[in-house]
Amino acid sequence: MTQTVKASGVVTSTATEMAADLASGERTSVEITQAHLDRIHEVDTDVHAFLYVNDEEALETAASVDEDRAAGKDLPALAGVPIALKDVMVTRGMPTTAGSRILEKWIPQYDATAVRRVRDARMPILGKTNMDEFAMGSSTEHSGYGTTHNPWDLDRIPGGSGGGSAASLAAFEAPLAVGSDTGGSIRQPASVTGTVGVKPTYGGVSRYGVIALASSLDQLGPCGRTVEDAAMLHEVIGGHDPADATSIDAPVPGVVEAARHGRANGVKGLTIAVVKELGGEGYQDGVRDRFEEGVEALRAAGATVTEVSCPSFEYALAAYYLILPSEASSNLAKFDAVRFGMRIEKETVEKTMSATRAAGFGDEVKRRIILGTYALSAGYYDAYYGSAQKVRTLIQRDFADAFAKADVLVSPTCPTTPFRIGEKLEDPLSMYLQDIATIPANLAGIPGMSLPSGLAGEENLPAGFQILAPAHEDARLYRVGAALEAALASAGQVPLTRHLAGAES
Ligand code: GLN
Repeated sequence: MTQTVKASGVVTSTATEMAADLASGERTSVEITQAHLDRIHEVDTDVHAFLYVNDEEALETAASVDEDRAAGKDLPALAGVPIALKDVMVTRGMPTTAGSRILEKWIPQYDATAVRRVRDARMPILGKTNMDEFAMGSSTEHSGYGTTHNPWDLDRIPGGSGGGSAASLAAFEAPLAVGSDTGGSIRQPASVTGTVGVKPTYGGVSRYGVIALASSLDQLGPCGRTVEDAAMLHEVIGGHDPADATSIDAPVPGVVEAARHGRANGVKGLTIAVVKELGGEGYQDGVRDRFEEGVEALRAAGATVTEVSCPSFEYALAAYYLILPSEASSNLAKFDAVRFGMRIEKETVEKTMSATRAAGFGDEVKRRIILGTYALSAGYYDAYYGSAQKVRTLIQRDFADAFAKADVLVSPTCPTTPFRIGEKLEDPLSMYLQDIATIPANLAGIPGMSLPSGLAGEENLPAGFQILAPAHEDARLYRVGAALEAALASAGQVPLTRHLAGAES
């Protein structure tokens, strides 16, 4: 059963087009915001991208932007363009669950820094999007609130953990979203929904007010339907924040300019390297074909193409699944039935805590807490966590060697197109393999982007192209990404906006 969620009208525009229409007076923010809310109410019973829809407040923001514009006031570039937020960011006055039953009905008292920046940019917040519980997963099937469906085929997963955000973009329920990426949760959902997702350099976007999964890996980032749209949002949410000790104290890279430059001028003078270890066995044929066509398109756009080997990547997944559970088991200790959310009252504090955690956490979360607690226990620390940290250093060295030979590295984002709901639920390891190509960037703290490379396989489902750059060189991703996007469009690749907007083929 392949059902797509066709759309037409203003919701199929890019965020950049919406911003231009607002600036020229062609449309009002109330009109654009209402169109998205209508769209959410029309399709979200099928897609289930949203956990919370913020109708009233979104329209209030929209009306105030329209008023200020009419009064001739100076407004930020994306003022009036609506946005969705992954439910991992705390939002003042709006429920925040991180996809977990343990946080059901919790309403935070404050905004995450990224949320505050979205509000300062005067963007109407459409609502909070579904995710795997505490961002653990690659399909949103681990959400405590039911799975999200991929708008390309409602029987398939939209990726995870940020599947709600990615699905909201692909279903034209929102033009932009903020996601979080600890091992691939922005890039893999982008890959399987035919959208664009960026994990900035670690520290590029503040983590203040983000419910932590693994603090040394977590990074917020922009999601959109085009590279330029993602760049516009990157500049809104990025930048130094004294409230996050790991935040980079430097100006936000000029990613919008880089995207425009790449689209207009291609990638002449840049060297791109295909990572030998990412793209061989286990990658679906069609996904590889689309990737190779992408590489050829970049060559035609002026790039020199080479290949690099990163031998330590073989151990990346294993290291990640020690580091992540270790940090997660410690971060999740705060859900103790006292401070936040759910409480199942029993005779003693210990019994209350244990009953609450037993009822509030899902299977995947419990699995990782057990794994992390074990890996950190006395006597095992050096053997597991310590070894994993050494592997992390080796991966960083592989990247350093590779970037000495090339400006950016490229690979497929994810080995497959979206799989069927239920297909990998009983097999955590095969679910973990979805992130084989995205995890190395988190372990090294470098930036990565996924953008659509076309449709693959008999079912014509989205495949993703990943670009990786050295730390602090986020702008390079946008230059190369925009060049590739333009090259593929002129080679006749049907863009998402047209495909799902009814111009099938
Ligand atoms: N799918 C990966 C995991 O389950 C990535 C999670 C993430 O990036 N938040 O850990």
